[in-house]
Amino acid sequence: MDNSPSRLFPQSETPNKLAPPPPTNLDTIRLRIEGMTCGSCVSHVENALSKVPGVAAAQVNLTTEIATVTPVESGVTKQQLIEAVRRVGYDAETFRQGDRIASGLQHTQQSTLRQQRQALGQAIGLAVPIFALHWLAPILQGGHQDSPIWPVVVQAILCLLLLASPAGAPILAGGFRALVARRGNMDLLISLGVTAAVLSGLWQLFIAHAPTMHFNTAAMILTFINIGRYLEIRAKHSAASSISALVQRIPLTALRIEDDGPQEVRIERIHIGDHIRAAQDTIIAIDGQIIEGQCSVDESVLTGESALKPLEIGDNVLAGSRIAEGLVTIQATHVGADSAMGRIIRAVEDAQAGKTKMQRIADQVAGVFVPIVIAIALLTIVGLLLITDATLGTAINRAVAVLVIACPCAMGLATPTAIMVATSSAALRGILVRDAAGLERAAKLDCILFDKTGTLTVGQPAVTHIDVLHDDATFTENDVLTFAAAANQYAQHPIAKALVAEAKKRNLSLADPETFSSTPGRGVSAKLDSQHILVGSARFLADNHIDLTAALPLVEARAAAGQTAVLLAVENRCVGVIGLSDKIVNGAAAAIAAIHKRGITTAMLTGDNASNAKAIALQLGITDVISEMTPTDKLDEVRRRQENGLRVGFVGDGINDAPALTAAHVGLTFASATDIAASAADITIVHHDIGNIQCVIDLSQRSVRIIKQNLFWAFFYNLLAIPLAVLGIIPPGLAAIAMMCSSISVVLNSLRLRS
Ligand code: ADP
Ligand code: MG
Repeated sequence: MDNSPSRLFPQSETPNKLAPPPPTNLDTIRLRIEGMTCGSCVSHVENALSKVPGVAAAQVNLTTEIATVTPVESGVTKQQLIEAVRRVGYDAETFRQGDRIASGLQHTQQSTLRQQRQALGQAIGLAVPIFALHWLAPILQGGHQDSPIWPVVVQAILCLLLLASPAGAPILAGGFRALVARRGNMDLLISLGVTAAVLSGLWQLFIAHAPTMHFNTAAMILTFINIGRYLEIRAKHSAASSISALVQRIPLTALRIEDDGPQEVRIERIHIGDHIRAAQDTIIAIDGQIIEGQCSVDESVLTGESALKPLEIGDNVLAGSRIAEGLVTIQATHVGADSAMGRIIRAVEDAQAGKTKMQRIADQVAGVFVPIVIAIALLTIVGLLLITDATLGTAINRAVAVLVIACPCAMGLATPTAIMVATSSAALRGILVRDAAGLERAAKLDCILFDKTGTLTVGQPAVTHIDVLHDDATFTENDVLTFAAAANQYAQHPIAKALVAEAKKRNLSLADPETFSSTPGRGVSAKLDSQHILVGSARFLADNHIDLTAALPLVEARAAAGQTAVLLAVENRCVGVIGLSDKIVNGAAAAIAAIHKRGITTAMLTGDNASNAKAIALQLGITDVISEMTPTDKLDEVRRRQENGLRVGFVGDGINDAPALTAAHVGLTFASATDIAASAADITIVHHDIGNIQCVIDLSQRSVRIIKQNLFWAFFYNLLAIPLAVLGIIPPGLAAIAMMCSSISVVLNSLRLRS
């Protein structure tokens, strides 16, 4: 298998001028699913989608109501997927990412909230008279032996109206669809409960002529279910509003230059090529190129770099950055979902659509839960009638309580709501989670391995020293630099950039290499003016059979001075040694100490030479140092520790650490937000501050704790209540309240992750 970092992590050639990253994840298909109410629904839709030929994987999220489907070699159409979803009783539509950015999320949520509020209003309007008649019946009876029949008839009529109203009909329809598709879900349980109550009420009214409390029960269930749904939508709304906060960093309108001057237009109406005017304090809504004026921008949201960046005509600006000063006209190059911010939001949404291990188990359980509950309800009726002298009415009543209290509605919400709140609030702090399961794993790390250059150090080395090998009088310092820089013009490594920058500073002219190839973690080779050039570590030159006898003492001297030594060979002769020094990231030592305090061990893996690596590790308090490693060695080291049973986190700069990042239990990088889509890491940290690793671990531990609590409230709590329902200790009305509380507690509990 080709594990080369260049394959896993396509490198972009534009470090300082941020260009929009290459399109990724475009192969996944996303659908908005309608009609899901519980964890069982999630597993039904997921199963249906994964059974469609050509689908590699499908994930459905109850909170965002989005299905993410990964096809095998684009072998499946959206229409096939939509049909598969419809066959199991739900509805699906294609999902346009742009909708979300144009505040579509809030719009749809607001309309479902409005609908649910209306349904709730009708439920209460019809249920209150039913309750009143039920409780007033004994008074109306007024001591007469025969109770009047009309209050019960009115209750029956009101109850049937309730079933037909928006408070009842959608649930019954959902239950019916589930029955036809032979899939159990929450709608089916509620429908069975309510129908059983109403039918036995009618039976008692017309055939048995006995007083009945079943209409009251049905009304209570439907009312509480509707209250529950309303509160749940509201709470989900505020959970989702944390991602809206990210979306809201993009303004809804921009000033477009039209024939009669600048006009304020909504961003969804802005197209590529349009000219946008942006003045001081505006947040830019699109990616584009400055065609007039100059400004300084604050890109901290995207890059973590808080220093203002001066920009002029020809420079690129990115959506989400703020104009701190100046006035510019920008020609739009990427809009909406394709803009830098659009990609970040997409990545965060993908993480939220993903599933943690715990949720996977919960969903599977929810899938088989409903048939079991129905069986328990039937057994309750049969058992009570056979063993006790309970009436059929009582038996049905208890079965209804069982059906209602065991609804797995909260099970599907337990993890997604927590993950949604956790990832969104992290994103607002510049911690971008790409994989929800990775966040879950970060709670239990045993050791964290750090890359050195660009991770523990700032990654902006500067040339501080140049040695020319004495036996070669034909070379000067500047010649050494010219060769080393020219060979490195197309390399990505921070060292390469430092060499080129130093050469430019000294006004040296750099010839274009005729050939170029780079060995990650080692160095580069190139052909310049038909001469064979090698630039890299001592290891790299030694591997290429270059005699280093004269150079090694110079390399040692650089290392002793805390510098990274880079050697230059021309035509297989080592002719120079360049020393570069890089600064340690601010606060790194304190952050490492705090990580140790948690009982997590650390190690530094670097491609640099041993003495320099040790010197830096000493300043950081890291004792475990492995040097002269290639990216593959780093990968092997991660695997080796994993085989020893350790849970390993790897923190790399993403430039050549992709294999190790992918293999580790949790891969973390410090990189700009725009790199998130292409990154091999589970978590990208925008602000280069080692202390943020602690924030990730904290957030992970808190999320896992909250998810566990949620699963308890969603699942065990219901399970424990079933015997109480069978024994008649929990009547159906109370069962409905208990079920409502369980879903709401789950969502409210997740919201605690916001602080
Ligand atoms: P780290 O593991 O500390 O991030 P790398 O693996 O990126 O370090 O690089 C290891 C060593 O390889 C560097 O210290 C340098 O000596 C050499 N090297 C890598 N790439 C280049 C390059 N483009 N030019 C010169 N030297 C390089
Ligand atoms: Mg590195």
